[in-house]
Amino acid sequence: MTLLCVPIFFDSLEQTARDVALAAEAGADVVELRLDRLTQGVALPQYPVPVIVTCRPEWEGGESTLPDGERIALVEAASANARYADLELATLRRHPDARTFLAERLIVSAHDFKGRPDRLANLVVEMNAGGGDVNKVAWMARSIRDNLEAFELLQTRQKPTIALCMGEAGLISRVLAKKFGAFLTFASLRDESATAPGQVTVHDLKRLYRWDVIGARTKVYGVVASPVVHSMSPAVHNAAFDQTGHDGVYLPLLVNPGYESFKAFMESFVPFEGLDLSGLSVTLPHKENALKYLREKGADVEELAASIGAVNTITIDRSDRRLPLRGLNTDYGAILDSITDTMRISRDALGDLRVAVIGAGGTGRSAVAALAHYGATVVVYNRTREKADALAAEFNGRTGRVVAASMDKLCDSCCHVFINTTSVGMHPHVNESPLGERAPKFTPDTVVFDAVYNPMKTKLLRQAEAAGAKTIGGVEMFVRQAAAQFEAWTGTKAPSDVMRRVVEQRLLHSAR
Ligand code: NAP
Repeated sequence: MTLLCVPIFFDSLEQTARDVALAAEAGADVVELRLDRLTQGVALPQYPVPVIVTCRPEWEGGESTLPDGERIALVEAASANARYADLELATLRRHPDARTFLAERLIVSAHDFKGRPDRLANLVVEMNAGGGDVNKVAWMARSIRDNLEAFELLQTRQKPTIALCMGEAGLISRVLAKKFGAFLTFASLRDESATAPGQVTVHDLKRLYRWDVIGARTKVYGVVASPVVHSMSPAVHNAAFDQTGHDGVYLPLLVNPGYESFKAFMESFVPFEGLDLSGLSVTLPHKENALKYLREKGADVEELAASIGAVNTITIDRSDRRLPLRGLNTDYGAILDSITDTMRISRDALGDLRVAVIGAGGTGRSAVAALAHYGATVVVYNRTREKADALAAEFNGRTGRVVAASMDKLCDSCCHVFINTTSVGMHPHVNESPLGERAPKFTPDTVVFDAVYNPMKTKLLRQAEAAGAKTIGGVEMFVRQAAAQFEAWTGTKAPSDVMRRVVEQRLLHSAR
C-alpha cells in the first residue's frame, strides 16, 4: 500500500500537535515532521499517526543551517517516537555511523531542486547498496517526460522507494505514485504549507484525483495543455469517473508549447508500459499539433476535425497491441447540439438557418466549419475583417454559404442564431458585449449562444434575455464537449448532469 504522507514544519509542540491531528483527520497515513527550524533537540510525544522525522539542510532545499553533527543529533533525539527518520545520502556519505541508531527505520534521500540529478542511476545503485530501508529521490521536472523516469525507478525498485518529480510538470508523479507502488507520496495540509513545488493538498489528492481508488490497473487520462493549472477538466472528468465507477484518473499534463514537445510527449507516454494512458483531451496550444501528429502517424482523424484543422480529443485503443490512435473534435458537436437541442430540430434542419458567428479564432472556425457542413448560411463578423474574409472564403460553397460582414453591421443582422466565439465579455471584463450597448432585433425565436463560460451569464446573454430571446451559455458547450470525450474513451453514457454541476460549482466558487 502506498502511504499518504503530510509534511509538517515543526515550530512548536502545540502547533505540531494541532497540524498532526488535522492531517490525520484529512486522511494522512503518516506525517513527516520537518525539524529544519529547530536548533535544539526535542522529545516528541506519541501522535495519532506514525511519524517520519527529518531535519533538511539548506544545501538540500531545506531550512536548517546547522552543521551535520547537530542535525543528526536533532534527528536522533526526535526519533525515539518516530516510525522512520530521513537522512540525506550526502549526509550519510560523511557520517556513515549515523545510521546505527536507526536500524530498519532509515529513509535515505536525495533531492535536486534544479533538475534531474546527473547520475540518477548511480545514486540509486548507491542507495540500494547502503544500509537504508527506504530510498527516496525527488527532483525538479524539466519537462513532463521526467515523470516516466520516476515511474521506471518504482518499477525496478529493489527496496521500498519514493520517486517524485517536483514542479507543475511533476504533479502526475505524486498522484500516480500509488499506481506504481511507491512507498509513499506527499500531500500538503493547506496550499501554503506545501514543502516542495507542485505538491497538491490532501484534499485535492483524495477528492480531485481519486487517490483512494487508484490501483495498479487504473487507466490514465488527461488534458494536454500549456498552461494547464487552471483547467476545469480534471474536476469534471474525475467526477464523471466517480459517478460511473470507471477505473480511471484524469490529470493535468503540462506539455511545453511547440510541435516537437507534443510529439516527444506522445512518443514516450502512449507506449509506456504500465501507465495505461487511455485518452487525451487536447487544448491550447496543441490542438493543431495533435492533428499534425496523428496525420504523420497515419492515424484515423474524424473528417470534420480535419477540415477544422484541430483535434481536441485522442482515443487510444489499448486492447490492440499496435495502440491505434484516433483524433476527434468534440467542440463542433457541442456547438451544433447545443443549438439543435434548444431549437428542438435535427442537425439536418440547420440548413434552413442563417447563423451569425462572431469571431474568427479557433472556436469561430469550429462553429463555421460545422454549421456550413450541415448547410447553414453563415455570416462571420470579426474585429479583424481580413480573418473573417479568409474564414468565409475557406468554407463558402463546400455545403453551406459562408460570407463575411463588417462588425458595424452586426446589429442590423437578421440571423436566426447568434454565436459569440470571441473572448469579449469574459471575466474580468464582464460588462462588455460583442454587440456593444446596442443589440440586434432579437425575437423570442432568436437563439443567442455565448461560448464564454466565465461568467456563466455574460452581458450578451443578459441583453438577449432582456429581448426575450432563447439563450445558451458557454457551460453548455463545455459540458457537452467533455461528455463526448468521456463517451469516446469509455464507451458508456456520460453523467452530464454531474459534470455540469461540477463546472457550475467551480465557476461560482471562482466568482466569490
Ligand atoms: P482565439 O482563437 O484566440 O480567438 C479569439 C477571437 O476573439 C478572435 O476572433 C479575436 O478577434 C476575438 N477578440 C479577442 N478580443 C477581442 C476584442 N477585444 N474585441 C473584439 N474581438 C476580440 O480564441 P478561442 O480559443 O476561439 O476562444 C474564444 C472564446 O471562446 C474564449 O472566451 C474561450 O474561453 C471560449 N471557449 C469556450 C469553450 C467552451 O467550451 N465553452 C471552448 C473553447 C473556447 P481578432 O481576430 O480580431 O483578434
